Amino acid sequence: MTPAYCGRFAPTPSGPLHRGSLLTAVASYLDARQAQGQWQVRIEDLDPPREVAGAADTILRQLEDHGLTWDGAVQYQHDRHDAYRTALEQLRDQGMAFYCQLSRRQLSEQGGRHPGPVAAVQPGPDRAVRLAVSETPVSFDDLLQGPQQARLSEDDGAFVIRRRDGFYAYQLACALDDADSGITHVLRGIDLLDSTFRQLWVMDCLGRARPQYGHLPVLVDDNGEKLSKSAGAAALGHDTRDTLFRTLHLLRLAPPDALRHEDCATQLAWAVPRWQRQPLSGCRQLRD
Ligand code: GLU
Repeated sequence: MTPAYCGRFAPTPSGPLHRGSLLTAVASYLDARQAQGQWQVRIEDLDPPREVAGAADTILRQLEDHGLTWDGAVQYQHDRHDAYRTALEQLRDQGMAFYCQLSRRQLSEQGGRHPGPVAAVQPGPDRAVRLAVSETPVSFDDLLQGPQQARLSEDDGAFVIRRRDGFYAYQLACALDDADSGITHVLRGIDLLDSTFRQLWVMDCLGRARPQYGHLPVLVDDNGEKLSKSAGAAALGHDTRDTLFRTLHLLRLAPPDALRHEDCATQLAWAVPRWQRQPLSGCRQLRD
């Protein structure tokens, strides 16, 4: 039986967690626990060249150190290649997925929008697989940001689901993992909103149930830049109580000062019944 609520946190092991990724983890954890739902962790190790040795274990330890305990076994995308292959074959059988040889440069010379299956080529090495898109807009009601809509055909057009180097693309893997894990609620950063339209399209094409999505504001630095691993955001330090307290404050929970010195489990237990999505609705950025 599918639980009424199943959430998840899905970090890429390209480095340790920073305060921005912790904010996402805490918000999705609180949303799940308040609903008495499950909260899973999935390591998105789809792209070995981008991975940093040991980062997956560091992330899991950081989650535990901040009291964020997950349900069930940690999932790893490297275990899921058979499922991705089966989904890709289904999409090809449906006539939705096709091989393509257009390079990024050729595409940008043509205005950046992929023309769709007219550019299909025979299967072969060094060829990407793309998913055709529709003229019909993809829409959904965001739990925090309200109604959303995008027409993928007017965006970049057909998108990559398996890269020319043979690695499966994030859009396919993430959509399929969420569907296969029975995820009902995805709370993640608003920087992934564009991906959500593509992942919904993947699920629709595969005939899978859609989760609900809520896009959280991203944490930005003094220059308004998103905290990110690629931009060298500092890893979380050892002062887990203070870091968690500041995160609860950023999430507009107004924690009382006395809570700052409590251990992380106590802070989270305080926060679970008080968490609300509403104070963050429409908010796209939080300043540290
Ligand atoms: N793996 C992605 C990241 O670390 C997040 C994916 C998701 O939450 O769907 O940015």
